[in-house]
Amino acid sequence: MTASTSRRSALRLGGAAVAAAVAVPVLGSPASARSHGSDPAPGSDGVGDPLFPTLGNGGYQVVHYDLTFDFTPVIYDFTAVVKINAKATQDLSAFNLDTDGHAIDAVTVGGRTADWALSAGKSGQELTVTPGRPLHRGQAFTVEIRYHGNGKAPRLGLTGWKFGTDGGFASAAQSSRADTILPCNDTPSDKATWTFHISAPQGFVATANGELLHRSPRADGSTVWHFALRERMATELIGIAVVKGTYLYGTSHRGLPLRHIVPQGQEDKYGPIVARTADHLAWLEAKFGRYPFSVYGLHIYDGYTDALENQTLSLFSTNWFKLNANGRPGYETTMVHELTHQWFGDSVTPDNWQQAWLNEGPAVYYAGLHGEERGWSVFADKMKATYEKLDAIRAADGPPGLPKALGGTNIYDGGALVLYALSRQIGQRTFDKVMREWVKRFKDSTYTSEEFIAHTVEVTGDPSLDAFLRDWLFGALNPPMPGHPDWKAAA
Ligand SMILES: [Zn+2]
Repeated sequence: MTASTSRRSALRLGGAAVAAAVAVPVLGSPASARSHGSDPAPGSDGVGDPLFPTLGNGGYQVVHYDLTFDFTPVIYDFTAVVKINAKATQDLSAFNLDTDGHAIDAVTVGGRTADWALSAGKSGQELTVTPGRPLHRGQAFTVEIRYHGNGKAPRLGLTGWKFGTDGGFASAAQSSRADTILPCNDTPSDKATWTFHISAPQGFVATANGELLHRSPRADGSTVWHFALRERMATELIGIAVVKGTYLYGTSHRGLPLRHIVPQGQEDKYGPIVARTADHLAWLEAKFGRYPFSVYGLHIYDGYTDALENQTLSLFSTNWFKLNANGRPGYETTMVHELTHQWFGDSVTPDNWQQAWLNEGPAVYYAGLHGEERGWSVFADKMKATYEKLDAIRAADGPPGLPKALGGTNIYDGGALVLYALSRQIGQRTFDKVMREWVKRFKDSTYTSEEFIAHTVEVTGDPSLDAFLRDWLFGALNPPMPGHPDWKAAA
């Protein structure tokens, strides 16, 4: 996403937000069955993310999510079913899913009714599922959860629902709010493939990540839209919506299918804007190689106030698309930012949120280079200004590689500054190779900063880059900028 709003969500996840939240009643039968036999134990209620300790759950990995979502615009009620294919990574007597603000109607494991219980977590709720029989390590299993609720119902933390003037909604779940859309394993470390079946009444369209497979009409005049995302996706990047929108189709210069959703009646305004995507794709593919997914597009919606890189379908506020005071289409910088994320963040995903500098750093870096090539700005000027203020930001918010929260300049412009320093140290050609090989090597996978350091040393054959990157990423102060010995921290 862009820098303006993610900090707020990180701060809201603190204790005050939870303490002030409305209590959600616990429904269903208590988790009572306990195991016997091999020594199965409950999976943990978090995967130990340094910034969000109870995000995600231990003891299993999701393989596939299948989400059926039946939403009624204007009144915001919904009923839903999520079917999860997963694999146990330990002997499990019980396991958790992250959820927030849903009424759970029924839970089955392997087709059999399972016990379940809801409890308050740090950034939402924990749904503890106790199957009738323990699961064995390595065992594939299915979980089906029927649930319902209202999009505007109170939640323990922030919501991933964004409401437009049309009575519809779009999901914007980064970093930890996919659990307000569906019960899930809400950690970027557990990526899965997805299918969606989203219903929309007459006059509305449905969207989701991935390819639109087909639409099935229903007797009441509504339509179910079926989508499939073949590449794995982290929950934080879910992009479903039911809106009064128009699909606009196109192709990239090499033939990649493009589909955009713009507000109904504003096709003439937004058509030429979304068509710029083809040039942006060609520019980035020349740097990184092929775009990693089978479709891309923008969803432009007045219910959102920022821009967010939902996988294959970036979500943009209508507010972005105005010309700058100097008459330039500055919004193209944001379009390139979110498109860069399709490689850095979506295809290659942080294992935990403390690695987010390598999502946001490349997005800022390449959007800045793109603006410079267009003659809109000088990227080195932006980097010099960042250098001058980053020492103070390191002290307050943590260095780029060890942020205390998400959303700060340390991981955005600071992350770009780390990459800029590396490019000055090893030269642009070698730097380009490091980045190109990185998105190839970690495609459809997750990474840590340590893996980026090791990768850089390996690609360059230069062991001194280990200490170089550690100083830039984790140090209390900026190291000297290669090629710019005159750059200094602001007094
Ligand atoms: Zn971003």
